[in-house]
Amino acid sequence: MNQLYYRSTRGAGEPVTASQAILQGLARDGGLYVPESIPQLDCTMEELAEMSYPETAYAVMKQFLTDFTEEELKTCIARAYDSKFDTPEIAPLRKVEDLCYLELFHGATIAFKDMALSILPHLMTVSARKNGVKNEIVILTATSGDTGKAALAGFSDVEGTRIVVFYPKDGVSPIQEKQMVTQKGANTMVVGIHGNFDDAQSGVKALFGDRQLEQELDAAGFQFSSANSINIGRLVPQVVYYVYACAQLQKRGELQPGELLNVTVPTGNFGNILAAYYAKSMGAPIGRLVCASNENKVLFDFFRTGTYDRNREFILTSSPSMDILISSNLERLIYKVAGEDPRQNASFMEQLSRTGAYTLPEEMRQRLQDFYGDFTDEAGTAEAIRQVYKASGYIMDTHTAVAAHVAKDYRAQTGDQAPMLVVSTASPYKFTRSVMSAIDPKYEQAEDFALVDELSRLSGTPIPQAIEDIRSAPVLHRTVCEKDEMWDVVKRFLGVK
Ligand SMILES: *Cc1c(COP(=O)(O)O)cnc(C)c1O
Repeated sequence: MNQLYYRSTRGAGEPVTASQAILQGLARDGGLYVPESIPQLDCTMEELAEMSYPETAYAVMKQFLTDFTEEELKTCIARAYDSKFDTPEIAPLRKVEDLCYLELFHGATIAFKDMALSILPHLMTVSARKNGVKNEIVILTATSGDTGKAALAGFSDVEGTRIVVFYPKDGVSPIQEKQMVTQKGANTMVVGIHGNFDDAQSGVKALFGDRQLEQELDAAGFQFSSANSINIGRLVPQVVYYVYACAQLQKRGELQPGELLNVTVPTGNFGNILAAYYAKSMGAPIGRLVCASNENKVLFDFFRTGTYDRNREFILTSSPSMDILISSNLERLIYKVAGEDPRQNASFMEQLSRTGAYTLPEEMRQRLQDFYGDFTDEAGTAEAIRQVYKASGYIMDTHTAVAAHVAKDYRAQTGDQAPMLVVSTASPYKFTRSVMSAIDPKYEQAEDFALVDELSRLSGTPIPQAIEDIRSAPVLHRTVCEKDEMWDVVKRFLGVK
């Protein structure tokens, strides 16, 4: 089989193999790695419909990670998608009213980040071995709440790695914070920063770009990589569940052969919806990609006007994992609609970092027709939770609720009645306070864990192990820093002077 190589969206440097791209995370010129072409599925939907989740993962991922042997990839998959998930389906589908929910929160940390972060550490250690890496790999991660815990759980005590997670001190839910600061593992560090997610992400990107730091670390036996969705080792595993969902829905007769499935994705950094776009480009029967934002609606404005403008107030919402004004993965789409011209893409990204905005020319906007952007405000989010619960008893989290509201609006506004998949990105137990207050304001006064018990009673679902685990867990991480101190914190953790 031909090798698939990866290039930086900003053009500098030679193409690299998949394992090299996974090891590096971000390309050295600050760009993101993209496959030279999107590979095609080499099996039919009928064949896929008979496959388990791990089998589907192999069928999809082998097309992208061509320098992994069959045994290497199958071992990574087997170690990732096992009993850490609370259901053998891994990514179950739920039909509620006239929407299909793809539940991606059945992993160890009860958010969709587990779908990719339970496999990334294995892909990373295989990649290190393949490329003869001697250094210890230091995973630097910025999180808006969910990536941090999922990455910590994935990398905790993985030999040859350390992980540092930066989160916005006042920008995550109480349960998200408790999950992170109770993380065990001698190779883990969790740091709250005085700033928002974009500050954390920009800080991490700056550390990646610091050549002097890179040399100091190399001398001390360390090198950085990333567990953020800028890493293609995050993106590729996310393509799997879209292919899986299409095949399973066809098998159940929810999607007819030849019919296309619309997909609504609650979006922050644009990684999850980009994976859906890759699945469509591989040949999965996907129609419209509906990008759902909360009140930080940069992407809605972008799809409506062609101008990406981050110069606006950063709003803290009840869907904190989508409180993002710089959606990193959008760069991969911009590169694509720029006709894969790295210079043109780099010029937009340069404008974005200098002025906070850029505008696509009309012919590039024309190439965005697969996408449709919309948003939901806080009242709409709460209303979606309440209404679906009252109508069906199904309780969804705030991020999923943003998407459910947008999916219904999309149908009403466009008249497009094709089957709709709503991507359910977190368990309601992760955002209990917001979820329960949406159902009934009387819960606003209750205690966190009293709400957990009440949620279990109302929804008739068992309390996830991830929540039981933090009820009494001791806080192990207390570091808080300013956004310009991230460098010092990392060096201190690694014992580098
Ligand atoms: C990360 C996250 C999102 C946003 O996903 P992106 O890939 O960053 O667009 C949405 N919902 C939840 C619960 C998340 O954790």
